[in-house]
Amino acid sequence: MLFHSTRGGDSNKKFEDILMQGLADDGGLFMPDEWPQADLKILKEAKSFIDVAKHIVPLYTSSSFSETEILELLDNTWHDFPDIDHAPIVNLDNHKSVLELFHGPTAAFKDFGLQLAAAFFNKTLEKNGKTAIVLGATSGDTGSAAIDACKRFSSIKSFILLPDGNMSEIQRKQMTTVDSENVFVIRVSGSFDDCQDIVKSAFRERSFLKNDQYLLAVNSINWVRIVGQICYYFYASLKTNNLSEGLNFAVPTGNFGNVFACYAASKMGMPLNKIIVAVNDNNILDRFFKNNDYSKQKVFETLSPSMDISIASNFERLIYDFYADRNSKLCADLYKSFPNTPIQLDKKIWEKSNKLFLSYTTDDDETIKNILKIYQKHKYLIDPHTAVAAFSVESLQSQLEGKTLILSTAHPAKFPDVINKAGLDLAEIPNSLSDVLDRKEHSVKMPSSKDDIFKYIVDNN
Ligand SMILES: *Cc1c(COP(=O)(O)O)cnc(C)c1O
Repeated sequence: MLFHSTRGGDSNKKFEDILMQGLADDGGLFMPDEWPQADLKILKEAKSFIDVAKHIVPLYTSSSFSETEILELLDNTWHDFPDIDHAPIVNLDNHKSVLELFHGPTAAFKDFGLQLAAAFFNKTLEKNGKTAIVLGATSGDTGSAAIDACKRFSSIKSFILLPDGNMSEIQRKQMTTVDSENVFVIRVSGSFDDCQDIVKSAFRERSFLKNDQYLLAVNSINWVRIVGQICYYFYASLKTNNLSEGLNFAVPTGNFGNVFACYAASKMGMPLNKIIVAVNDNNILDRFFKNNDYSKQKVFETLSPSMDISIASNFERLIYDFYADRNSKLCADLYKSFPNTPIQLDKKIWEKSNKLFLSYTTDDDETIKNILKIYQKHKYLIDPHTAVAAFSVESLQSQLEGKTLILSTAHPAKFPDVINKAGLDLAEIPNSLSDVLDRKEHSVKMPSSKDDIFKYIVDNN
């Protein structure tokens, strides 16, 4: 199984290459050359999430790692999930259940993708006797999940840039209270976009790296993150109906990574009914699915900050695979002048959406009301991102057949202010989060200047 770029420039890449490279040289995203098929008979025998992963992950990694290497890696990857079950399902009523993806160490679903990424980064570095710097900008959960996933590997130093602005205190403290020699948190006086610009220049210039050192990105375009997420879709389907019939999945999304993993699982043979693409006021995806209008707008700060994006980077994979039938020239053409020119597909092609996708925008007001409503009706507390997905299901119920799983991407205790706004109290805080509140913060404050930040990296490299 090899990989190639959605824009046709890069091809015949091994898993290890695309793992360490992240984005393709032509600006496209990596895709597997074909969709490997899961063996549902084998999966039906799986007893745990790890068993499922042991069948799914090797389908993508065989170009670089032996079966034995992978199985050992998977036994040691998803750490600090307190429940025996990595992804429990809670039934709300006959139609809908919640798939809880927040039982990892940072209480958000990003632990699934980033822990797998870090384990493979480390394995590759060890094999080749190299080291790496992880550099990322974060406005939410990516930074904490990346730091947590990488901190135990001495071959990796993490530098995470935090912008001023819309992040909950707990989200910030999850990053600044990590006391580890290879983790550096930089609070930048600037916006998320300023931080992103610095990260982009860093990937162009690479001046601060030692010889033989990799620079790794932790943004959501790395294929390995999708692989980690595909596993819980199969696992949830297995537990719900033994993979016998298609479910609906309601996914609260920003960068489309989590939705794409659901799509990928269906291409690999998981029965699927509809995917509900649930967004907040940053609704480029809803505008596309409703009106064939994929145009960039400015970012609004919302109560579900981990979905505050202006473009959905992983959406390019769907354009390429689903709409363009893997025609890389068409994909490259569409993206050549995007975002200056919005993407609008040929109407015939765009209409394919109806088969598989529904979409919905939930604003902050409805998000808060829905947290309260779900609590009153089911005695179940959800976080604002989950509330966006739950409200989309309620609004679209008449168009849904069969059972729906609402993906819960974060624990409500990460957003205490929003829970209070809904008039509710947090009943319990997971240990991983309550620890964080009492610990001392360490971070450096820096101006939004790439020279200062590069120098800081050199001094600490
Ligand atoms: C990152 C994140 C999302 C959005 O995930 P995408 O893969 O970008 O769609 C949703 N909810 C939470 C809590 C997140 O951290």
